Amino acid sequence: MYENPDGVKIGLEVHVQLNKLKTKIFCGCSTNYHNDPPNSHVCPVCLGLPGSMPVINRKAVEAAIKVGLALNCRVEEHTQFYRKNYYYPDLPKGFQITQYDFPISSQGHIMIEGEDGEHKIRITRAHMEEDPGRLVHEGTIDKSKYTLVDYNRSGMALLEVVSEPDLRSPKEARRYLDKLRNILEYLDVFDGNLEGALRVDANISIMGGQRAEIKNISSHKGAERALLYEIVRQKNVVRRGGVVVQETRHFDEAREITLSMRTKEEAHDYRYFPEPDLVPLKISGWAPAIKETLPELPDARRMRFVEQYGITDDQAKSLTGELVWANYFEEVLKTYENEYGEKLDPKFAAAWINDYLKAEINYRGTTLTITYKAGNRTGYAIGIEYTVAILRKLYLKEITDDNAVVVFRYLLDAPVGGEIPRLGKLAEDYIMRLLEEKGLLKVEGDIIVTAALEAIKENPQAVADFKAGKEKALNSLVGAVMKKTKGRADARAVREVLLRMVG
Ligand SMILES: [Zn+2]
Repeated sequence: MYENPDGVKIGLEVHVQLNKLKTKIFCGCSTNYHNDPPNSHVCPVCLGLPGSMPVINRKAVEAAIKVGLALNCRVEEHTQFYRKNYYYPDLPKGFQITQYDFPISSQGHIMIEGEDGEHKIRITRAHMEEDPGRLVHEGTIDKSKYTLVDYNRSGMALLEVVSEPDLRSPKEARRYLDKLRNILEYLDVFDGNLEGALRVDANISIMGGQRAEIKNISSHKGAERALLYEIVRQKNVVRRGGVVVQETRHFDEAREITLSMRTKEEAHDYRYFPEPDLVPLKISGWAPAIKETLPELPDARRMRFVEQYGITDDQAKSLTGELVWANYFEEVLKTYENEYGEKLDPKFAAAWINDYLKAEINYRGTTLTITYKAGNRTGYAIGIEYTVAILRKLYLKEITDDNAVVVFRYLLDAPVGGEIPRLGKLAEDYIMRLLEEKGLLKVEGDIIVTAALEAIKENPQAVADFKAGKEKALNSLVGAVMKKTKGRADARAVREVLLRMVG
């Protein structure tokens, strides 16, 4: 049982940009603005010019229902949009179209890996709203002389997912965000790698005190850091005999501290009222058909991986924890079978893909999917066919584990310049050439025997020690042979040959 010594209660409001939709929520402007100049994807509606009229994007409502269902929410009978009034340059019309007492879905939950095992986090609601524009400050927000505004983002469909304060530590908050992002990626409504894709406001209180709200955190790591800072700050306030006041704070990512912004607004400060330009939507009939389209979600896929492939729960958790890795793993299995007409052992594949390749890529701080400079196309950092070819060589024992690592590392570090992954047999030829060029193909038989004879001749002391009963002396002989064969011999085979000669 997790004791939660400081009585930490954290609730998160996560703003998810439904950025896989083609158009914005209330107009026909394209959502594909990330590589374009500021204010180039705008129209009177998303600029909020007087007289412009919003029209709801049906696909956005469908995506929002899909997310609600995946978060185990109840999808409401009907939903309605409201105006939330506030004055700030990110929304020139002076209000944001959002939802109030008729959100699209509510009362859901997701399971996370908590401090003491599986932990259920209740979802209060998930409601739709329009994204405001993006404000760009020169330097830091408190020192900047002016503010630049980019309305490309204005009017992007947002889903605000609000949790109950069921999170008990910054670590749990991070796990919750990871899980939420994971689910959203499986649903194919969201690309988490794009700027502004996921923004977090966090409520936190300790020991039953008032809560502080930390605004606009832009990363999972940022959320964890901001919350860790905030716990220390609130504890210090209490320790000095003070009282934590309810307020909104800003997280300064660079300095990793939170700063007081203003005292918290109450709902009535926003003077919510129904958006007169959008009729209430009756959505009760939509959910069943959308439910049919729900893909296999992370938890289900994890369980299937364990059952179907016999890999460990940790491996399955790690692979399914990112959609791209889960797909990669299954694509490797399928491609191998197509290519060689026999099944690849999934446990063997998981050991290489999850335990080795994923760790290697994480260590480099890169991702499995990369953008190739030539043609600006995206692909895997190591094409499926390469991995399949290397696993084949390993299975046939044509290369050693150590040298497979050398090849993987060579491929990972190869300049991304013009290298487009070669496919099918070409990948195998490429790997073969690489192995030959680098002298990495496994050596056996005569070559090992010759190297062993040399090693014995050059290390009489080790031979004498071994014969006198010091078993460890054999290791230095094995080392000498491995050095002579440049690591291309199988250590076990070398051991056997040496034992036959000196044993
Ligand atoms: Zn527009």
